[in-house]
Amino acid sequence: MEESRQGKPQVIETDAVVIGGGLSGTAAAIHLARAGFRVVCIEQRKEISRIVGESLDWSAPELFANLGFPMKELVDTEVATWKRHITVAQNDGSSKEFLPGAWLAERPWNVEVRTLHLDRDRTDACLRKTARKLGVTTLHERVADFAVLDEHDSRARRILGLRTAQGTFVRASWFVDASGSDASLLAKRFELKSVAFGPRKVAIWAHLPTPEWVEGTTLYMVPSQGEYMEWVWEIPVRPGLSSVGYIAPGSSVKFQRAAGMGTQDILVRQCGHFARLKEIVERGSEVETATTTFLCRTYEGVCGTNWLIVGEAASQSDPITGNGVTAALRHAEEATALIRRYRHRGTIPSFARSLYNYRVSTVGLYFNSLIEKFFYQPTLRDRLGFFGTARIYTVPAWLMNLVYTRMRPRESVIRTVAITSILNVIRFSTWLAFQFGLLLPSRCQSPRDRKSSPSKEPVYAM
Ligand SMILES: Cc1cc2nc3c(=O)[nH]c(=O)nc-3n(C[C@H](O)[C@H](O)[C@H](O)COP(=O)(O)OP(=O)(O)OC[C@H]3O[C@@H](n4cnc5c(N)ncnc54)[C@H](O)[C@@H]3O)c2cc1C
Repeated sequence: MEESRQGKPQVIETDAVVIGGGLSGTAAAIHLARAGFRVVCIEQRKEISRIVGESLDWSAPELFANLGFPMKELVDTEVATWKRHITVAQNDGSSKEFLPGAWLAERPWNVEVRTLHLDRDRTDACLRKTARKLGVTTLHERVADFAVLDEHDSRARRILGLRTAQGTFVRASWFVDASGSDASLLAKRFELKSVAFGPRKVAIWAHLPTPEWVEGTTLYMVPSQGEYMEWVWEIPVRPGLSSVGYIAPGSSVKFQRAAGMGTQDILVRQCGHFARLKEIVERGSEVETATTTFLCRTYEGVCGTNWLIVGEAASQSDPITGNGVTAALRHAEEATALIRRYRHRGTIPSFARSLYNYRVSTVGLYFNSLIEKFFYQPTLRDRLGFFGTARIYTVPAWLMNLVYTRMRPRESVIRTVAITSILNVIRFSTWLAFQFGLLLPSRCQSPRDRKSSPSKEPVYAM
C-alpha cells in the first residue's frame, strides 16, 4: 500500500476508509479497490507479526480464492499446509480423528473436504502486497474519534469523517471498521449492545520446529473434569514448523503466574501433559512465546447508513471453532458488496442493514453458544466424553459451513431467513440438550472414550 506522508496534520478526502489493517480490513480494502474505490486503510501498527488464526474451517478457502489466492497456490508457495482432518487428543494417549465424510466430495454435493492451515505472517504479507498493487493507501496512525451526523438517532447516524491521534482528518463517503475485538471502535463509540460468552481467556503460543508433522490440526484437551475447559493446539503452519498454543480462562493463567511461572513456563508445563507436545517443546531450544487475551463477544447493529463493522470488531468467535478467519473474510466480502451496490445512493437501505446485522450476529451467537455449551462448560462434556461431544459438535459446525457456502444469503431475504432459522433451531436444541444434561449424573471418564483409546479409526461426522 502506498505510504502516506507523515508529519504535519493533514486532511485527506477519499471514497472509502478502512480502519485496521488486519485480515478483515485488508480483505475489505482489496474488494473495494478492485471495484474502483479510492481506499485509505488506517493501521496504527507499522509491524504486524506473530499473528494467530492459523487453522481454517471448510468455508475459508473459497473466500481466499475470491481474493485471488487459490488453495493450491498457497500450499505450493509454503504459505499454507493442507488440513485434512482434526484430531482430538487426551492426556491418557487416546485420540480420534474427525473429518468430513468422503461422500461429500462426490456428486451432487461436490464439497471440497480439504482446507488449510496458514502461516499468517506470510498470508497477511501477501494480502497487503495485493492491496498495495491495487493502489490502497495505508496511513500508519491511530484512529481517535469520528465526526458523526445525527449522533443520537441510531437509525440515521452518519459518519462524515474521522480524526487520528496524530491530527489527520479523513473525510469519506464510506467507513469500514475492522479494528479488531479489543478496539471495536464503532461498537464502543455507538454503545452497541453485545452478548458475551464465557470468561475473558488468555492465549499463549509459540512457533516450534516439528520435523514429523501431519496434515491436520490437533486439539489437546487439558484434563479438566467438572471445570471450565483448557486446551492446547498444534497447527502445522508450514512444512516443519508448527504453532503450539494454550488457551485458558484468565483466572487460571493468573493462578499459574502467582505460582511464579512466566508465559514460557506455563506453555511448557501445559504441553508436558501430552507426550508428543512434551517432545516438541523439549526439542525447541528456546520457546519464544506470544500472548493475547480475548473475550468471545458478538455485537448487534453492526451496519449503519454509511458504515459497517467487520471481523472481530463485529464478532469474536472462540478460536476452537476455527471460524474467525472465515467470519473476517465473509464480513469483508458482504460488507463491501453492500457498499458497491449502494455506492451511488450513498446510503445503505434499512432492510439491507438489518439483513447484514442479522447474519453477522446469528452466526457469531451460533458458534460461540455451541462451543461454550458442548466444550467449555463441563455439563455435556463430562457426560458424553470429549470424543462424544466432538462427534456431536462437528456435525452442525460442518453443516453450517456447507449450508452458508451453498446458499450465499447475501441480500436475499428468503435465504437469510432460512439460514438463520436453521442456525437458531440448532442453537435452541443445544440449549435444550444442555438443560437436560444438567439433570443427568456426570461420569468421570466416558467408557466410550476409554474403549476408543487404541483406535485410530477416523470418525466421519456426516
Ligand atoms: C488466540 C487466537 C487464536 C485464533 N485461532 C484461530 C484459528 O485457528 N482459526 C481461525 O479461523 N481464527 C482464529 N482466530 C481468529 C482470527 O485470528 C481473527 O478472526 C482474524 O485474524 C481476523 O482479525 P481482524 O482483522 O478482524 O482483527 P485484527 O487482526 O485484530 O486486526 C485489527 C487491526 O486494527 C488495528 N487497530 C485497532 N485499533 C486501531 C485504531 N484505533 N486505529 C488504527 N488501527 C487500529 C490493529 O492494530 C489491528 O492490526 C484466533 C484468534 C485468537 C485470539
